[in-house]
Amino acid sequence: MTDTRKQKRIAVWGATGSIGRQTLEVIDRYPDRYRVSTLTARENGEALLAAALAHGADGAVLTDEDAARRWHDRFKSAGIRLLSGREGLLEAAADPSPDIVVNGLVGSVGLEATLLAIDAGCTIALANKEVLVMAGELVMAAAARRGVALLPVDSEHSALFQCLQGEKREQVARLILTASGGPFRSLPADKMAAVSVHDALAHPNWSMGPKVTVDSATMVNKGLEVIEARWLFDLDPDRITVVVHPQSIVHAMVAFSDGSVKAQLSRPDMRLPIAYALTWPDRGEVSWGAMDFSTALTLDFQPPDLNRFPGLALAFEALRTGGTAPAVLNAADEAAVSLFLNGTIGFMDIPRLIEKALAGHVAIRNPDLETILATDREIRARLLND
Ligand code: MG
Repeated sequence: MTDTRKQKRIAVWGATGSIGRQTLEVIDRYPDRYRVSTLTARENGEALLAAALAHGADGAVLTDEDAARRWHDRFKSAGIRLLSGREGLLEAAADPSPDIVVNGLVGSVGLEATLLAIDAGCTIALANKEVLVMAGELVMAAAARRGVALLPVDSEHSALFQCLQGEKREQVARLILTASGGPFRSLPADKMAAVSVHDALAHPNWSMGPKVTVDSATMVNKGLEVIEARWLFDLDPDRITVVVHPQSIVHAMVAFSDGSVKAQLSRPDMRLPIAYALTWPDRGEVSWGAMDFSTALTLDFQPPDLNRFPGLALAFEALRTGGTAPAVLNAADEAAVSLFLNGTIGFMDIPRLIEKALAGHVAIRNPDLETILATDREIRARLLND
């Protein structure tokens, strides 16, 4: 018999997405240790209900109001409390009962919810990088005030976190994030503009949701990750670098004051960083695939080409500008990616629109949550209505 008092209660936000589904797989492998509390999804009521029933969830949230209306009766007859809309997500986020919240939401929707979960005292396992991109200073300060751990789920940040265990921060010289370079790593500059949605969604190493996959193809994803790393590990932007590593085996490295470099290697499988966030400060017993060194293995590293991937340089620029600039980068990217995915703009228009949005914005220093959210709405509306 499982002793339910010893089980940690895990809330999974974005439960039907790539991170959420893999989180549920990890939880399934540790039935004595973890149990699901709340699951959230945007509109996929069918998958959410199935997951809630399979994992014995206490409650569920559909953030799309129409979907929630359509699915209300089905959840009710299944005996699962369903909350709806943004308000429903915020109500679930303020619930102090989960031990850990795995935030696998995509985009800016998770920011307010994350701040509420921090206030409620929940440990945050963060895959929703936009939260720190938009409001890194605010969120890290809130977590520090409340004494809440903010654990990275992004593979690069989990790798940095693992390399930093037992080390002194003042002896860290540099954080090095690796990037696969995406599907267009070697595509000539004159072919980049004609890239199709289909091409951009074909990532060589990782299977992810569409937004992150397009962000990987433009390398804006790596830029967002640089900003995320800056806040998670409280290091100056000049001490964070990006290296292209097509094999996606080394997920990140940390260089120290004595010239030593630690790297974390593993097969590209998100279940490992998810599991590490849940089991930290321990490691779990379940292996997510051993590295095989019995056959030849070549690892390549090369500097990124900022001319073909201007989105990466723009992210560094936004980070150095500070204030609301990273929130502008994030909002412009989200809007531009959605325009690209629906066929309105070309691939290289994504960094072009981000650059235009940054150029037209006067950054506001030390923004509060309201200022950040207002900036986000304004940039998004301008891009989508143009
Ligand atoms: Mg990543």
